Formats: sequence, structure tokens, C-alpha cells
Amino acid sequence: MSMASQHFSLKELADGVYAAIASDSGGAFSNAGIIDLGDSTLVFDTMNTPVAASDLKCAAKELTGRSVYYVVNSHWHADHWMGNQVFDQRAMIISTPETLELMRSELDDILESQRDYSGFQKEIEDYEKIFQVESDPLRKEVLRSTISRWRFELEALPGLEPRLPNMTFEKMITLHGKRRQAELYNAGKGHTVSDVFLVLSEEQIVFWGDLGFFSCQPYMASCDLEGWKSQILSMTQSLYKHFIPGHGPLGNQMDLRLEHEYIVTLEEKVRRAFQDGVSVEAALSQISLPDPFNDWIYNGAHRFEANVRFLYEYFKEEQE
Ligand SMILES: [Zn+2]
Repeated sequence: MSMASQHFSLKELADGVYAAIASDSGGAFSNAGIIDLGDSTLVFDTMNTPVAASDLKCAAKELTGRSVYYVVNSHWHADHWMGNQVFDQRAMIISTPETLELMRSELDDILESQRDYSGFQKEIEDYEKIFQVESDPLRKEVLRSTISRWRFELEALPGLEPRLPNMTFEKMITLHGKRRQAELYNAGKGHTVSDVFLVLSEEQIVFWGDLGFFSCQPYMASCDLEGWKSQILSMTQSLYKHFIPGHGPLGNQMDLRLEHEYIVTLEEKVRRAFQDGVSVEAALSQISLPDPFNDWIYNGAHRFEANVRFLYEYFKEEQE
């Protein structure tokens, strides 16, 4: 594979099947996939910025010899579809109806951030100041990659023309190619209200979208807690071997089990704090996670805070 990108690295999973794993600093932020169906080319998710998606599009062309025809958006979070706009006008952009609706409701916010990004600029500058004085090497590394990602997002803002899916499916759809077929499933409630994953059953490969966060903290703030746990558990009952998560490195069944364990462990710890009447602020500083999850904290420190706050709200609603 000759194609090199600062935004991701390509891994060949089978002949004609590739994972684009996001670099720590770059404009991708989330992983994507390139699949040669034999007579058409599919891309699974389009990353966080058009500049990263342009590299993904070039890689797809180079690896499969043709332009991308199918673009799948796994869910509504911007870091998985802000690259849609770079693909051919004739491309079919596929998601579920729920995801399309949520993307549509994001458009005003995106326009607003394009009109005035002084606040965002200021936030980046503040982070740069913190970065200068941070002495802990791990935290410094996290700051460095966050700042880098935000810089790419800021640079992308003026040219952003968010492009919505033009095709939706309810439960499941199979895309038939001469070489292989790709099965798309609407998992329903999980990481968001509707998450799509893609299965290549012959190769035992699953593009798992953000139902998967491997070796890093899952982002739970817009999840359906029970739904997500059961999605992961049911996938651990499957015979599929290779999983491409939305975030983190390629994984296997073990990574699914660890991801599930992270969610359950954090849920239990936060539930205990909540029931003991500990404030959410105190919980944020008191709660620690066992190995290997304590290392995951650095990989997405803001996610830990978002998750704890989400769980507090969740338990509050449970009580009412
Ligand atoms: Zn997500």
C-alpha cells in the first residue's frame, strides 16, 4: 500500500478490505473502512474533517481502482460524517432514518459554529497555554493530540458543507457485489439511538462503528445504557473474529468483553457514589478504575467526565 496519510494508517484485513485507523493527531479522529465489493467500492464512515476524508477517498481509489459508490454513516456524531461532502455527487450515502433525522437537527449548530468560531479559537489558545506548562508527559501528550484535532476542526469550518445521507434503511440491507456482499445492520439503541454496523460474514469481519471503543474510553453521553451493553454482549456470542472499532486499534472478541467490562465497572462505581450522596464533582475526582481501564482514562480524559455526568443524570432519572 503506497498511499500515506497524516490522518490515518491503512491495514489490510483481507484482499480488498481495509481499515483506516485514525492517527493520534490529525483530521480523522475516528476510524473508517474501505471495501472492494468487486464492481463497486464502499467506504464505512467519513471521519471528522473533509481534509481527512479526501485522503480516504484517494486511498479508496488507489486500492480499488474506482471511485467510491457507497458511503455508510454509522451514526450521527459529527466525527463520522463530516467528510461526506468530498465524495462523488452520484455516491449513495446510507444511514438509518433515525440517524438522518439527528444529523439534520445538527445542521443549525454547525452553521452557527461557522458564523462565529471566536469562542472555539479562544478555547484552543487556552489549551495551548496549559500545554506549555504541563509537566506530566502523559497528560501533555493528550493535550497535544486534542489541540491538533481541534486545529483541524477549526481549519475545516469555513469550507464545511455538511452533506446528508440520500438513502436510509430500517433494519438490515445487503449490498451485493461481484466479489463479496456487505451486510448493514441497524443495531437500534446502543452508543446512540441508532448505530449501524457492517458485516463481511465470509471474512468474519465487523466494522463496528462507535459500538466499539477499544483500548480507550467509550463515549457514553448519548448512549442507551442497557441497549449498548446488550449490543456488545450479543456480538460476543457471534463467531465473528475481527472488529474495527470507531475509536482505537483493531480488535477481537477479547476487546468486546473488555469494553463491556469498562461500562459495567464505571456504572457500578458511579451508582455507588450516587447512592452514597456524593456530589458529581466529588465523584469525578474520587472515582478510579482498575487495570487496564485506568490507562484508558488518559486516552480521552474528557470522555471520563462526560460518562460520569451522564451516569449521574441517568440514575437521577431512574429515581424519579
Ligand atoms: Zn460516536
